[in-house]
Amino acid sequence: MASSALRLRRIGAIAAAAAAATTTFTVTISSNDNRSVDPSIQTKIATSNGVVPPRRAHISSLVGSTPDKPLDILVVGGGATGCGVALDAVTRGLRVGLVEREDFASGTSSRSTKLIHGGVRYLEKAVFNVDYGQLKLVFHALKERKQVIDNAPHLCHSLPCMTPCFGWFEVVYYWAGLKLYDLVAGARLLHMSRYYSAQESIELFPTLKRMGDDKSLKGTVVYYDGQMNDSRLNVGLACTASLAGASVLNYAEVVSLLKDDVDGRIIGARIRDNISGEEFDTYAKVVINAAGPFCDFIRKLVDKAAPPMISPSSGVHIVLPDYYSPEGMGLIVPKTKDGRVVFMLPWLGRTLAGTTDSNTILTMLPEPHEDEIQFILDALSDYLCIKVRRTDVLSAWSGIRPLAMDPRAKNTESISRDHVVCEDFPGLVTITGGKWTTYRSMAEDAVDAAIKSGKLSPANECITHNLILTGGSGWDPSNFTVIAQQYVRMKQTRDGRVVPGVMDTAVAKHLSQAYGTLAERVASISQNEGLGKRLAHGYPFLEAEVAYCARYEYCESATDFIARRCRLAFLDTDAAHQALPRVIEILTAEHKWDTSRKNYEFKKAKEFLETFKSSKNAQFHDGKHK
Ligand SMILES: Cc1cc2nc3c(=O)[nH]c(=O)nc-3n(C[C@H](O)[C@H](O)[C@H](O)COP(=O)(O)OP(=O)(O)OC[C@H]3O[C@@H](n4cnc5c(N)ncnc54)[C@H](O)[C@@H]3O)c2cc1C
Repeated sequence: MASSALRLRRIGAIAAAAAAATTTFTVTISSNDNRSVDPSIQTKIATSNGVVPPRRAHISSLVGSTPDKPLDILVVGGGATGCGVALDAVTRGLRVGLVEREDFASGTSSRSTKLIHGGVRYLEKAVFNVDYGQLKLVFHALKERKQVIDNAPHLCHSLPCMTPCFGWFEVVYYWAGLKLYDLVAGARLLHMSRYYSAQESIELFPTLKRMGDDKSLKGTVVYYDGQMNDSRLNVGLACTASLAGASVLNYAEVVSLLKDDVDGRIIGARIRDNISGEEFDTYAKVVINAAGPFCDFIRKLVDKAAPPMISPSSGVHIVLPDYYSPEGMGLIVPKTKDGRVVFMLPWLGRTLAGTTDSNTILTMLPEPHEDEIQFILDALSDYLCIKVRRTDVLSAWSGIRPLAMDPRAKNTESISRDHVVCEDFPGLVTITGGKWTTYRSMAEDAVDAAIKSGKLSPANECITHNLILTGGSGWDPSNFTVIAQQYVRMKQTRDGRVVPGVMDTAVAKHLSQAYGTLAERVASISQNEGLGKRLAHGYPFLEAEVAYCARYEYCESATDFIARRCRLAFLDTDAAHQALPRVIEILTAEHKWDTSRKNYEFKKAKEFLETFKSSKNAQFHDGKHK
């Protein structure tokens, strides 16, 4: 706590020097999770059948705000944080708008490791530095971990992660540390950690190395964290906020902020619709800046000299074929030879691998460097008994973490992963830092700050602790059997005939996990509209999903679909390339695009995929899904 307080005093001092009229910096941990959800809100979300208002309705409501009749809150940024804020505020009965310059989750929130975690490494630091503040952060994140999983059960699940030990000291060290992790989780524990002998470990993880640096494997400690489909969770937050009454608009960029002439308070923003090119003003009692790594750009719209709050830090991930890791078991090496963490996790039928972050510069489309990809491959080969090959890399991407900056810190490791809420310009509340796992409590803190700043009158307190997202209410892991048993996939042949195909287990499971209880709506489209073909060989994504996402998930471009509605770009760049023509064809029918828009979509999607550095000749055909 002491170091947090010092950090805040430092940032506060800098902001004061910038002569901000009102400055409040807080790092808060929300604690009250006993508030119940107003049943009418939960019912409204659950019974809407996922039918969100159209994009044009949101434009009208944002354009319709005036200085005399402003929104309560305008949120800038449609990542996890911004969409979390919109959902929190609208379910407190406030009038809310949200603008995102590209797509929901197009920033960092689709590029995470996809872990919902308390931060085992921070627990280690808490113990060794006797740092109660760090311990509190872990405690808090573990609490949020359980809530994120419970509130979107279709998109999140618990995942066992194995830590290999090549010495008996390591066995004792990791076993004790992970038992402490269980203990700190308390009632929110997902499952107990446990030790497995070398023989048991190899049965569970056949590709694990038996010998490392002349030492034989002594066993492994397996512990549990959560795993999610990050961009779909983000889109789920946006759609749930929309169903609850917020006006959420993607492809809408804040180009300037509006100030009151008399007292200089921020009273709204000038927004450019990046689809039509038109600009309009939206007025709000408070603007919440949730622009992630770009939140300093928004602050600089008020004062070019605003001191930076963000220290950008980038992380690279690669995707490998499924045979690298067993289904349902991750591998985490807390300290590789150079001291970095390396992990390998099963994800959507493939293997996701990566390491910790390094300092970077800010860019909208970050790209992984070849040496970072090679570092991950080299680190993995120290722990696997199979050939680890660059040619197996199906996709590789980079993401930028919005670390809230401590001006004294020299490296990203020592910068706190905690979030910061600040109002250094009256009427503009900035929320940044934190992590995906804690988006809900970050949102709660930001909305609390906005209520104070704008003297807003919410109808109720924060209720997002127990608010189930769209598609999650009543979902059960066995739901996929209904899809498999009750639907067929009607597929159009090359000569134009429509023939029935089986709704196989892989597709049924995918639909159920991606769309929750709304999966039946996608299955219906595939059955009734002849859109039952797979979009790419070896992947369970269906043509029907393109139409569904265009209609009910604000999917406005081909990239939105291949990257953030289905995850093909992240899983397999080549497969995403192959799916593009059909994706664009279906979106053209849904959005009535003309030829020039179609060509533009091809160009943009190809440019996007160029930033994913897969192996040019990656060859992987699992032969499962013909
Ligand atoms: C490599 C990596 C791995 C990670 N792994 C994990 C993990 O496993 N678990 C975890 O809990 N956390 C993880 N994180 C952290 C987590 O991903 C981030 O904390 C979180 O996604 C940040 O969300 P955000 O909404 O604040 O930012 P973003 O997702 O970046 O959203 C900000 C949005 O603001 C928009 N925007 C910017 N300027 C404007 C403007 N002028 N007008 C309108 N919109 C604008 C952007 O387009 C963007 O979409 C990871 C981060 C990285 C980089």
